[in-house]
Amino acid sequence: MAVVRMPEKTIFERIISREIPAKIVFEDDHCLAFHDAHPQAPVHVLLIPRKPIPSLEDVVSDDAEVLGHLLSVVPQLTKMLSLTGGYRVVINCGQNGGQTVDHLHLHVLGGRPLSWPPG
Ligand code: AMP
Repeated sequence: MAVVRMPEKTIFERIISREIPAKIVFEDDHCLAFHDAHPQAPVHVLLIPRKPIPSLEDVVSDDAEVLGHLLSVVPQLTKMLSLTGGYRVVINCGQNGGQTVDHLHLHVLGGRPLSWPPG
């Protein structure tokens, strides 16, 4: 009998299913936001879709609604996080983009002036 291997769950899927803990700051039917374990700014939150889309490169037209939803959540999230002075939203994609977790995520960074360009 053929062995069917299930793809490994990413760490973010394990956070969604509560298999591993995270400091969750927001969630709804489509997404979840939690503090980054290695913050790069005083406020560093990750906003992820519940749907396990591996990266921006894997987005298809059916994902437009969920991606639009993620962006629409950002202002709610940044108000909750008191990022009144502005903030940055980043999506790393692929190896050269610095992506390390294969579950699409938005970094929301703020709480200090952020330099440009990034490294
Ligand atoms: P990226 O490098 O764009 O794929 O971002 C992945 C982010 O996930 C990094 O900023 C990590 O610090 C963060 N991260 C990895 N594991 C965890 C975790 N268990 N809880 C919170 N953040 C995490």
